[in-house]
Formats: sequence, C-alpha cells, structure tokens
Amino acid sequence: MMYILALDQGTTSCRSLLLDKNGRVVASAQEEFTQHFPKQGWVEHDAEEIWQVQLQTLHQVLEEKKVQPGEITALGITNQRETTVAWDRSTGKPLCHAIVWQDKRTASICEQLRGKGLGEKVREKTGLVLDAYFSATKMMWMLQHVQGARELADANKLCLGTIDSWILWKLTGGKEFKTDMTNASRTMVFDIHKLNYDSELLEAMDIPRSALPEVLPSVGEFGTAEIGEHRIPVTGIAGDQQAALIGQACFDPGMVKNTYGTGCFMLMNIGKRGKGSRHGMITTIAWSDGDETYYALEGSVFIAGAAVQWLRDGLKLIDSAPDSEYFARQAVNKEPVYVVPAFVGLGAPYWDMYARGAIFGLTRDTGKNELVRATLESMAYQTKDVLDAMVIDAGMEIRSLRVDGGACANDLLMQFQADMLGTEVDRPTQIETTALGAAYLAGMGSGMWTRKQVRDFRRSERVFKPKMEGKRVEKLYRGWQKAVERSRQWLDDES
Ligand code: ADP
Repeated sequence: MMYILALDQGTTSCRSLLLDKNGRVVASAQEEFTQHFPKQGWVEHDAEEIWQVQLQTLHQVLEEKKVQPGEITALGITNQRETTVAWDRSTGKPLCHAIVWQDKRTASICEQLRGKGLGEKVREKTGLVLDAYFSATKMMWMLQHVQGARELADANKLCLGTIDSWILWKLTGGKEFKTDMTNASRTMVFDIHKLNYDSELLEAMDIPRSALPEVLPSVGEFGTAEIGEHRIPVTGIAGDQQAALIGQACFDPGMVKNTYGTGCFMLMNIGKRGKGSRHGMITTIAWSDGDETYYALEGSVFIAGAAVQWLRDGLKLIDSAPDSEYFARQAVNKEPVYVVPAFVGLGAPYWDMYARGAIFGLTRDTGKNELVRATLESMAYQTKDVLDAMVIDAGMEIRSLRVDGGACANDLLMQFQADMLGTEVDRPTQIETTALGAAYLAGMGSGMWTRKQVRDFRRSERVFKPKMEGKRVEKLYRGWQKAVERSRQWLDDES
C-alpha cells in the first residue's frame, strides 16, 4: 500500500493524518500541547514540546496502520502561521519559547515602524497590514531581547523561522532550513510580487537575511524526513488557512472557502495577480507550484462561533453549541432581531475598534429562541460583509462558498448563509480541510496525484442553495447594516 502522510501543527494541538492513494483518510491522531501566557498579551509555545508532540502523533498513525518503511510516498506539512521560532544552527536548540501569532508584545515596535513610514511599503510589498500578528516584529524582538541571539546572527548561526521550517528542520535531522511561499508571505519581509525577501524591509527592521530560511514553492522538494527506518520525501508545505483552501480544492479564481470556528477565516482565490484590497483585507500567497503562483484575498471575522459560546457560557441560554440550531428553528420572527457581536470591535470591512456588541429590534415577544437565531444569523451577515468587499476588491464573482470549521455543521446557519449571499454553500464530507490540504500538496509534489485527481477527491456532503426571495434578503441585510451602524463608535476612546 502507498500512503501520504500529513502533519498539521495547529495553535493548540498537533495532528497527523494518513491518506491512502485514493485520497481517503485511513488513520489520524491528535494531541494537545502547552500554552504559555507569561504576561498580559504574551502567548508562547515551547518549540521542543511541539516537535515531541507532533512526532508522537506521527508514530501513532504509523503504528495504527502498521506502515512499513517505503510505504509512504511523501509527507506534507501545514502549520499555525506567523508563530516564530529562533534556534541555534549548530546545536539545533531553540533559544527561547516561540512567539505565537496571537502575541501582542511587539505592538510598540509596530508603532515605531509606522512612525518611520513603513506602513505603506509593507502593504505594497508584502500585501499585509503592519501588525504584531506577523512574524517580522517577533523576529526583531528576539534579536533585541533574547540573550545571544544577535551574536549568533552575526556568526551566521541563527535560524529564525516559522513553525513549518522548524518541523522540517527536525524531520530532516537539521539538514534543511527551508520554508514555503505561503508561510514566507506571512513574515512581513517577503515581497509577494517579486517572490523574495525584501532588502529594504530587512534593513529597516535589522533582520539578517542569513537567519531566514530558503523559500520554495509550496509544492516542491523540501528534503527527506528521517523517522526511524523511514525515509520520506517532504514535498508539500503551506500555512493552515492556505492549506484549507487547497483541502477544499479551491484551485480556480473566484473560489472561496470560509472556516466557521471561533472566528471566521475567508480566503478567496484571485488568480495569478496579487491585487491589493481597498477594504482592509490582506493579499497573500494562496500557493505556488513550479513557476505558477496563485494569490488570495484574506479576511476574517473576530467573533463568530465565539458568539455561540457566549450564548452557552455567558448567557447560559443553551447547553451546547449544536443546540443553537434546535432553538433557532423555534424562533417566530415577526420583526427581525439583530445581534451585533462586536465584543472586541469590528474587523473588515468596518475596522472600528470602538464598536461594541448590541441587540436591536427587541419587542415584547422576543425570547430566547429569537436571540439564539439572531446570534447564528450574525455569523452569516458578517461573512457577507467581508465577501461583498472581497468581490469588489477582486473584481470577480464568487462561484460558490466552500465551508468548514465547527459551526458549518449547523444546517440552519448554512441555509441562511446561502440565502444572504445568493450563492451556493457547499459543505464537504471531509471537514479536516487543513490537514487534507497538506496531504494534497505533498501528493502533487511527489507526482502521486495530479491537480485534477485532487479536485475529484473532494466530495460535497450537502450543497445549500439560495431559496429566500430577493426582496426579503435585501430587507434583512439592510436591517443588519443599520444595526452595525448603530453599534459603531460606541466607546468614546480606546479606554
Ligand atoms: P476553533 O478551531 O476556532 O477552536 P472549531 O472549528 O473547533 O473552532 O469550531 C468551534 C466553534 O464553533 C465554537 O465557537 C462553537 O461555539 C461553534 N460551533 C460548533 N458547533 C456548532 C453548531 N452546531 N452550531 C453553531 N456553532 C457551533
């Protein structure tokens, strides 16, 4: 039997997936690892622990299927993006904990860079918004604050990489220090148009090029993993959201995936030109194969499934997230009720950090069912806000919306989403799209699968077709926009 092995190194857990040559998942294993919160706003991971936990899950799937050396054709990696690791090239030891994408410690470094007028350059060259989220200021912080980091860099012995490059390094016994273009495009020092690190940005941030991994296309030859007796070519790497786009087989321009988790993450394939956004969206590399590079617009909603958690844990209206569907179906909405879950302000396309949550349209007969329904609907409205903006930015229509993430199991939400967008919403049988994406890239990189085959692997479990009358859609959405407008600028200042 021939297999493809996918490693999915996420923010809270590591997973390994084994696929057979027909693209079917035949084994999987998952384990959590420790989150470190040393100070307010700081989030760290222990890169050594991540490696050990990742390796454990890898051995679990190999043992479960009793896989022999030589039976795995290729290995793919997907990873939490932006999180940065610093290690010593000669000893292979991390110098400090990895700084996680959520970590805000470098906000003041970002302010300084903005002060130097770098904001516009960052946007033009990297497609990103100058923010602590991305790797560059985390690298700067390590070079400035971690003992020995600068000296190692001066001696060409420092490795500064995202998690994919760390995992690859460990898999290959320290032989390969490489990353792929999707991960590089999240560092904030990678020019997504010229496809190389940008000297001007590196210089302005004082990050030595010699400390950064070599950048390869996402489908390619990254090296050979040495795991016990196994020798496995690593032939595919992509950051998690991009991997999900591949896992959803969104290979053509105009194809979009939305992940309904705690927040929502939308990526739209915009083809081979890295168009900028005028609505505060990010332009990023979707994936690359040989000299073909595809771009994506990326937008996110801060509070999506988290609003359902609020119904459950805050208001105690429901016992579990899936129960939301049952109650929402009992709602009798004479006049629509709107919940605007701007708990932490509003993201794209509003970008209003002073907005706060609000409920509108309450009447005497509004009860629990109506509130639950309005909360679910808010996920669909927010998704529409972002997608409408993307359509304008990209200058292309959405063909269909491919969905994944925990809350995509909610049929009522998916139907309402289709109605609001006037587009089909397509839920696949396999919703582990991130790990699948890594497997697909590796399978293509090894020549085991063609792009066409991968397309055919994806099966729709259910397609929700728009059913609501256009006039009603318009009326409901107008009401949402009014609700959003009234929740904006709620706080007088940042305090
Ligand atoms: P994450 O990866 O961000 O932790 P998941 O993809 O695991 O998120 O999805 C979990 C989120 O989805 C939670 O916020 C939960 O409230 C929400 N959720 C899960 N199932 C449902 C459901 N059936 N209906 C609505 N929301 C749901």
